[in-house]
Amino acid sequence: MVTTNWKEHLWLEVENRGHEIIRLAEQFQNTPETGFSEFQTSRMLADYFKHIPNLDVKWGIAVTGVAASLYTGRPGPRIAVTADLDGLENGHLCGHHMQISTMAATAMILANCGIMHWAGGEVRFLACPAEEYEESEYRKKLLLERRIMDWSGKLDFLQRGLFDDIDAVISVHLADDLPERRVIVGFQTEGFWLLRLICEYQGSRFRAWCQIHQHLQEWIRLVQADGQRRVVLSEKGGDGAIEIVLYIFETSYDEVIQERLIQQLRNSIRQVFFRFHIEKENGYAPFSQDSVLTDLASQQITRLLGKDAVMIRPVIQGATDLGNVARRIPTIQPLIGGTRGHTHSQSFHVVDKWMAYIFPVKLMIGMIIDILFGKYLLTNRKTVK
Ligand SMILES: [Zn+2]
Repeated sequence: MVTTNWKEHLWLEVENRGHEIIRLAEQFQNTPETGFSEFQTSRMLADYFKHIPNLDVKWGIAVTGVAASLYTGRPGPRIAVTADLDGLENGHLCGHHMQISTMAATAMILANCGIMHWAGGEVRFLACPAEEYEESEYRKKLLLERRIMDWSGKLDFLQRGLFDDIDAVISVHLADDLPERRVIVGFQTEGFWLLRLICEYQGSRFRAWCQIHQHLQEWIRLVQADGQRRVVLSEKGGDGAIEIVLYIFETSYDEVIQERLIQQLRNSIRQVFFRFHIEKENGYAPFSQDSVLTDLASQQITRLLGKDAVMIRPVIQGATDLGNVARRIPTIQPLIGGTRGHTHSQSFHVVDKWMAYIFPVKLMIGMIIDILFGKYLLTNRKTVK
């Protein structure tokens, strides 16, 4: 069967299984769990995978991660499909349930149709824990106990070698407030790093607050002066100490500049506080979508929805650990419409189930077929094994 026939055949199969795919997405939506605690989600996915023929499944990686592989045993391109397992405390407000159902349905359809008998290479499904940068105390504990190797799921999976030998990484994500049947591609996502500033004070807490804020505002103005960065601040603090977390979002990641900014913060705070300390965390790297994969995605989107459905955007706010993967391997994560409300807010929800749940499976399968059958060789980036 030629590539086009495979694609038409499998796209039809996705439509035929539409109700099943929606039900799967909604099942995952009903069990949101936070990072490295996605026990139920992980078990549901692993159980689903175990019923798929020829799929080699491992689970409990980095506490809750799942990895499954369709390997042909023959040379050819190696593709990783990624999904994030975690939700937020009050729901799947970043839409990761759709990533999981897309991954599960893609694996099931590819494994059952026999396409892997005709192809070479591998499709590896990596369901990663903890994409949201939260629960720092819990993560520190897991790190100390050596149950995780790094701060987030993909950083951990990178260290464990689960992305080794991979030629292309494909992922999907729901878009922020995009009700139409359109898809955003080609953009860059910010990275971030963060500073924890802990100031000890004596006397009036209110006075200490005012002093910190005055100096912080000056520093934030300085950081944002060239329009390359933005700072988001969160505060807590007990008796005698005020803790402020400064998230610095930017599309470049220059450690020399970062060190200079930290030094400037230190100098500024030193004017008013005798006892303070500043801790830096590396956060996530900025994420540049691969251009070859962007072309490939745009072609599927055009065929499935028409060319007006492809939306090119330069920069998207927010950061993901997929940025760290993209620094090593060509990676893409189109943002899928069919949603209303802003991600990470209570108002975020799906308004078009076909677009949000069924279309991404077609997009993913279309891209995988083109890569597996060499229509898109990734040779100029990395040798295809
Ligand atoms: Zn997300």
